[in-house]
Amino acid sequence: MAIRTITEYPEKVLATVGQLVTSFDEELVRLCDDMYETMYDAEGVGLAAPQIGLSLRLFVMDCEGIKLIAANPEIVGTEGEQSGQEGCLSVGKVPAVVIRPQKARLRAQNLKGEWFEREAEGYAARAFLHETDHCDGKLFIDHLPKLRRNMVIRRFQKEKKW
Ligand SMILES: [Zn+2]
Repeated sequence: MAIRTITEYPEKVLATVGQLVTSFDEELVRLCDDMYETMYDAEGVGLAAPQIGLSLRLFVMDCEGIKLIAANPEIVGTEGEQSGQEGCLSVGKVPAVVIRPQKARLRAQNLKGEWFEREAEGYAARAFLHETDHCDGKLFIDHLPKLRRNMVIRRFQKEKKW
């Protein structure tokens, strides 16, 4: 296992729609091991492949008791609304309030390529949505009004200089 370098805003790969995962092999298992190690090292609750520079539809997460690997994830249902703090390892964990659905249903493939569905609420639903967004080339700041988006970016760039 190895800790990978985390890709940060504004690197292009973070704004690129990921490629489908098509090989469910040993290499994918090793990649997910690395992603978990990188995520835990950075004290994150989720990490998507574009965040380590790979344009792939893949994420790992471990959030509020939901630990899973999702290849080719899609959100197939949402319900309600929540307003809460969110941050991203690729934007230096600078927090911002983002409005998201309260519940989300994820459909994805596991390491064997088998499809599964999983439902989550609250913070874990937020993780499903945030990580699936990464696979679509979207960051959480893209959900913010322009002024607040710019504030997060400025704060992140300022902190990076230190
Ligand atoms: Zn993120």
